[in-house]
Amino acid sequence: MKDSHGRTIDYLRISLTDRCNFRCVYCMPEEGVCAMSHDEILRIEEIERLVAVAAGLGIRSVRLTGGEPLVRKGVVELVDAITGIEGIENVSMTTNGVLLPRMIGDLKAAGLSRVNISLDTLDPVQFHEITRTGRLEDTLAGIDAALAAGLNPVKVNAVAVRSLDQDFLEFAKLSIDRPLHVRFIEYMPVGDTSVDAGTGWGKEDVIPSEELFDIINERARAAGLPELRPAGATKPLGWGPARYFEFPDALGTVGFISPLSRHFCSECNRLRVTADGKVRPCLFSDTEYDVRTALREGDDAAVRDVLLTALGAKPDDHHDKVGTDRKMSQIGG
Ligand code: SAM
Ligand code: SF4
Repeated sequence: MKDSHGRTIDYLRISLTDRCNFRCVYCMPEEGVCAMSHDEILRIEEIERLVAVAAGLGIRSVRLTGGEPLVRKGVVELVDAITGIEGIENVSMTTNGVLLPRMIGDLKAAGLSRVNISLDTLDPVQFHEITRTGRLEDTLAGIDAALAAGLNPVKVNAVAVRSLDQDFLEFAKLSIDRPLHVRFIEYMPVGDTSVDAGTGWGKEDVIPSEELFDIINERARAAGLPELRPAGATKPLGWGPARYFEFPDALGTVGFISPLSRHFCSECNRLRVTADGKVRPCLFSDTEYDVRTALREGDDAAVRDVLLTALGAKPDDHHDKVGTDRKMSQIGG
C-alpha cells in the first residue's frame, strides 16, 4: 500500500481501549479520561475483521496499544486471532508492563512476538509521581517477565523530559547485561498542552536526541565507562524510526527516537486506529475517518474504502504541530 507521498504503509497501530491502570501526567488527567462506553469501542471481532481487511491491502505488522492494552478484556483471544490472519507477519504490543507477569504465558502462546514496555524513570518516588498510581517494581517485574518468556526484542521506551532530570545513564546501562533495547523518545507536546492540563511541560522540555546522546556519553566518561557506538548485530528487529547505539559487549542497545528534532515523517509506514474506530492518518493530525460504521454493517468493501481514504490523507510531515484534540491515551502513542 503506497500513500500519495510514495511511502509504503504496512503497519497498523490499534488502540484497544482508552482506559488505563496508570494516570501518567503527560498522558491523561488524574481522574482518567471520560471513558468511552462499551458500545462506542470496537468489539474484539470487529478489530479482527479490520485487521483482515487491512492485511488484504498490505498491512504486515500490527501493534496493540491503548490506554493500557492489557486491561482490555479479550486481548489474548485477539492476539491469537490476528496472528493467524494471512499476511500478518508480526503482532506486537506497547504496555506499561504491570499485567505482563500474569499474562505473558498466554500472550506468548497466542503468538505475541514483541513487546515495548514504557518506563520513564528508575526512581520509585518519581515513578509514582509520573504515573500517579503505579509502582516501579511492578513495571520492572513486567520487563523481567517479558525477557524470561523469551520475547524478542524487548524494548523499554522512556520519554525524556528536561524538567524531570531523569538518570539517563542508568537507563542506558540497562542494555548492558540483558538483551534489552532502551529507547529514549523526545517528549511530544500532544493533547491539551496548556499548563492547566496537568504537566506544565512545553516545548522547552523536549531534549533533542543529539543533546541526550552527548549527555549520556559525558556521564559515561565521568563514570569511567566506554561511550556509545553505532549498534551492529545487536540492533533489534522492527527497528522502526529509532537510531541505535550500544556499549561495547552489551547484550542490548540504546536507541533514540526523535519525532521533533529529526522528523522521520519521510519514513512513516503507519496508520492508526483509535479504540472507538477512527482511522488517523497521522499522530499529530486531528483528521479522522470512521471505520466503525462500516465494520458494524459488515461491509468489507466500505472498510477498505475508509482505510484507503485515510491512506490518501496522510500528510507529508507533521510540521511541528503542537497539541491535538485527543489525549495520547486516546490515540495510542
Ligand atoms: N499504556 C501503554 C504504555 O504506556 O506503554 C500504551 C499506551 S501509551 C499512550 C503509548 C506510549 O506513548 C507510551 O510509551 C508513552 O510513554 C507514550 N506517550 C504518552 N504521552 C506521550 C507524550 N506526550 N510524548 C511522548 N510519548 C508519550
Ligand atoms: Fe496509561 Fe500508558 Fe498513558 Fe501511562 S502512558 S497513562 S500507562 S496509557
